[in-house]
Amino acid sequence: MNERDSEILSQVLLDHGYHENGDMDSADLVILNTCTIRAKAEQKVMSLLGALRKCKERKPDMKICVAGCVAQQEGERLLQRMPHVDVVMGTQNIYEIDYLIDKVNATGKPVVATDMSRDFRIPAFLPQAHPTPAKEKYPTRSFKRFVTIMQGCDNYCAYCVVPYTRGREISRNPEDIIEEIRVLADQGIKEITLLGQNVNSYGMQSQDTPLPCSFPQLLHRIAAIQGLRRLRFTTSHPKDLSDELISCFGDIKILCPQFHLPVQSGSDAILQRMNRKYTVARYLERVEKLWQIRPDLALTTDMIIGFPGETDADFALTMDLLERARFHGSFSFKYSDRPGVRSAGFSGKIPEKVKTERLALYQKRQDEISLERNRAYVDTLQELMVESADDNGFQGRTGTNHIVHVEGRTELRPGEFAVVKIIHAGQHSLKGKLHPQGELRVIKNLFL
Ligand code: SF4
Repeated sequence: MNERDSEILSQVLLDHGYHENGDMDSADLVILNTCTIRAKAEQKVMSLLGALRKCKERKPDMKICVAGCVAQQEGERLLQRMPHVDVVMGTQNIYEIDYLIDKVNATGKPVVATDMSRDFRIPAFLPQAHPTPAKEKYPTRSFKRFVTIMQGCDNYCAYCVVPYTRGREISRNPEDIIEEIRVLADQGIKEITLLGQNVNSYGMQSQDTPLPCSFPQLLHRIAAIQGLRRLRFTTSHPKDLSDELISCFGDIKILCPQFHLPVQSGSDAILQRMNRKYTVARYLERVEKLWQIRPDLALTTDMIIGFPGETDADFALTMDLLERARFHGSFSFKYSDRPGVRSAGFSGKIPEKVKTERLALYQKRQDEISLERNRAYVDTLQELMVESADDNGFQGRTGTNHIVHVEGRTELRPGEFAVVKIIHAGQHSLKGKLHPQGELRVIKNLFL
């Protein structure tokens, strides 16, 4: 979500006469688009803001903008702590970045825009990067795009700041989504990832106004757009994973065999304390059904280690779930208290040393399983979408979202498709070689 928000900020400013400059010291405007999901992310923001103070002393005209969840949470307090900041911009205010910067330039005073409105609607038109023809010999430009379909969350998991920093759940009008994707497909974009905190519950324009379109219906409508080759979505909540959505994996050809389904713990007692509203048995039943429909589907998850009250027995259940689900990959983290969330007040906090030990055990076993899973691809043929290429070879992704490196000169360019035979598996990526059929199946892009 933050990556997509950064694209929007960047594109609004490009359209407003700015250009991107990778050098912080000489930039006229520096935007930090921030995350507060874990304490470490927030600490990084504060330390970078400290470094920016020195830049601004050398270059007093520089403007500094803090966007995203830290800005939303801190508001005016951020200006008191960091008076060299010029704009504090909340998650619903990113669409007015040009107006806010103009206001600072006109008045010379900092602005704070962190209003959260019950009437907020995602704008009909969200800017996407312009697809200009590539001039470089080896363009690295991606042929995939994120498309926001909803914002906010109503689930109030006990540990999570999102409902407070991104507001209540609001879905974007399906006609606007379809139009945005149709334009992208016409420009040659091959892969779309639909974004929302919980895309499975897509369908409410506001808290009491439903849209005439469910998430599975939206997927079917998008799949009918000419030119698209791949469709993905993230993130899903297990409690809202319906049979109708599962059956989309059998019915929609361009829906990639990849599912990120955060489970967070293998203990029912901990899931209940987390307010997740499903059990481990229900989670596994949903996964089994997915695999019945798409046996080649790669499953990844999120896991929180050391949630308050997590006993050795609870952690053993998490390890047990890992053995049963054999996730292709996990994003696993130590629990940390976030300000304002319910679990910050929970008893039974786990000592840091215990969390570290448990996380290391979990990640070691997950790495072994990922490698075992990846080895199963060796000697199989996989279709790749090329993402980058140079004189030494190319890199692409499979439908299951595995990165594959292929050595040797190729005429293939980013956005084209090829069939490769997998010849080696690592923990986090695969190696392949171009299969004779692969050259035949290359699909040219419209604007390369
Ligand atoms: S569903 Fe996801 S975004 Fe929503 S509160 Fe739970 S963890 Fe946070």
